[in-house]
Amino acid sequence: MSNSEIIELTSRYVMNTYSRFPIAIIRGEGRRVWDADGREYLDFTSGLAVCNLGHCHPAVVKALKDQAERLIHISNLYHIEPQAELARLLVEHSFADRVFFCNSGAEANEAAIKLVRKYFSLKGEERSRIITMEKSFHGRTFGALAATGQKKFQAGFEPLLEKFTYVPFNDIEALRNAVNEKTAAIMVEPIQGEGGVNVPSKGYLRGLKEAAEKAGALVIYDEIQVGLGRTGKLFAYEHEGVAPDIMTLAKGLAGGVAIGAMLATDAVASAFTPGSHASTFGGNPLATSAGMAALNAILKEGVLDNCRKSGEYLAGRLEALKKTFSFIKEVRGKGLIIGMELEVPGADIVKDCLSKGLLINCVGDKTLRFLPALTVTKEEIDEMTGILSEVLANPARK
Ligand SMILES: *Cc1c(COP(=O)(O)O)cnc(C)c1O
Repeated sequence: MSNSEIIELTSRYVMNTYSRFPIAIIRGEGRRVWDADGREYLDFTSGLAVCNLGHCHPAVVKALKDQAERLIHISNLYHIEPQAELARLLVEHSFADRVFFCNSGAEANEAAIKLVRKYFSLKGEERSRIITMEKSFHGRTFGALAATGQKKFQAGFEPLLEKFTYVPFNDIEALRNAVNEKTAAIMVEPIQGEGGVNVPSKGYLRGLKEAAEKAGALVIYDEIQVGLGRTGKLFAYEHEGVAPDIMTLAKGLAGGVAIGAMLATDAVASAFTPGSHASTFGGNPLATSAGMAALNAILKEGVLDNCRKSGEYLAGRLEALKKTFSFIKEVRGKGLIIGMELEVPGADIVKDCLSKGLLINCVGDKTLRFLPALTVTKEEIDEMTGILSEVLANPARK
């Protein structure tokens, strides 16, 4: 089918929940994708921080092929080898002792919310309030939506799950004032993604953890977007060395395959017992084999090193553009999640980049977001900034 035939089918049969760009991507390899009419694009979105190793990484493809030939699905009534192995690998490389698997980011956050409730219920403490941040994003299901501190996602879906309080991100004072003996947990993205790539000040996570501990509350990190190497460390919290009690993962965990995970310390995880929570597809052989392949590749192939180096190089190139174009307000980020805040709307810039063969996206109305694969090269970054600067230089922009 051609782009236009696929677009026509979509608009006729698929529920209208996305405003999509007018192309259909049908193939990908590394940092390149191709649309149904054969046009090539340089991809700086990576399926929104999902394809951290680029598209169709050979190790992930092989793991999927091998596993698909052996066993695609089996119930969690039985033990599942790649699930157990992936759990071990995650535990060995994080603060956590145990892992619960599900299928998406929102589901991982739902699991975290339920675990927190169960934990305090077993302790006989009446604590259910969870403090989250303004401009946060935690997903679209009811618990995750209530956790998301942005009205625009919640409007029309009230009444929401109760007992969430929002405080400004990166504001320790506001947090201290909000935390009390009714607080069950503080939930935070170590760097906010959808909220505009907001990087907190050094010491923020430490202050947050101290406030939680003082009140006897738990800390949940949502690393669904910034985990799995995106910031140049396997997990973003490692930059500050402050571990949470619970952490949620999804996007980049299985090299492009749907997966979610909720990790916790033994002390907290033990609140879940058989029957507490479940997921039919959670931790299935296909997704967890892909997860093993992807996580091993992130850990072994110099990927994190490349992410740090390429991240600095990309940030430098974007800073250079800021000197040329007065409507660029700020460049911020860590590793290979970088936002460029503009004083003008970003939608047209994203559209113009697309027509020149470059995929980027825009969060909020005015922040361009760059999420290339962690394996991106210097040449590809130069190619990207070349296209972007041409687009920014369009006289209509001023
Ligand atoms: C994408 C995202 C989610 C939601 O993940 P889904 O898989 O879309 O449910 C939650 N939290 C953060 C930080 C995210 O970036």
